[in-house]
Amino acid sequence: MRIRHKHSLYQLTFLPRFFPVNSYFVEEADGLTLIDAALPYSAKGILRAAEHIGKPISRIVLTHAHGDHLGALDALKLQLPHVPVYLSARDVRLLDGDLSLDADEPGTPIRGDIPKKLQTRPDVLLHDGDRLGSLLTVSAPGHTPGSMAFLDTRNQTLIAGDAFQLRGGIAVSGQLRITFPFPAMATWNADRALATARKLADLQPTLLAVGHGSLLEQPTAAMEQAIRTAQAAIGGKEHVTSNRS
Ligand SMILES: [Zn+2]
Repeated sequence: MRIRHKHSLYQLTFLPRFFPVNSYFVEEADGLTLIDAALPYSAKGILRAAEHIGKPISRIVLTHAHGDHLGALDALKLQLPHVPVYLSARDVRLLDGDLSLDADEPGTPIRGDIPKKLQTRPDVLLHDGDRLGSLLTVSAPGHTPGSMAFLDTRNQTLIAGDAFQLRGGIAVSGQLRITFPFPAMATWNADRALATARKLADLQPTLLAVGHGSLLEQPTAAMEQAIRTAQAAIGGKEHVTSNRS
């Protein structure tokens, strides 16, 4: 496990070389908010890192319901039974095996590894605009229908889950990067992901922290570039479709 520290954020990276998976601690005056629970074996490393920082874990917040963001959740909940777990109501449905779509959602299939044997369910359902300590919850659908991002309002650090990837080159969720194609392969809807990417860039973050890849400082120009690339790719596909019809 590798740890990087920037402002109020600690990035914990598991398997940094081959399949980098990030969890984050956001430091508050009285404790740590854990964002995402990485891989099944990550619990020990997460607990040890909190010990090292010297503050208790006071919340466990999940960006979305994919296995590489929930892996250590059951093990952590066993050790920290009183620490509340937060996830969007929309993505809880995925954990319950319900992959149906709502009437106002595009009809592309929900993808990615959704754990079937996870015991833990959230104690609190997340909604757009919820405040969790210094964090503002921002609805970020696209990668999954109920994905959430979190903005640290003290310093505009954005923890974006898989709405963007940085490993293999910055990309909006749903845009394939050959050297790290997994987030794109697990994305539900590229159009929604693009709309979310715009919304997140408009927050003007000073630091971008994602599920896969290292931290990016002053990321707005790179995010805008990734948005243009995604826009061109999606626009191209629409053009092909309209020619055929
Ligand atoms: Zn994911």
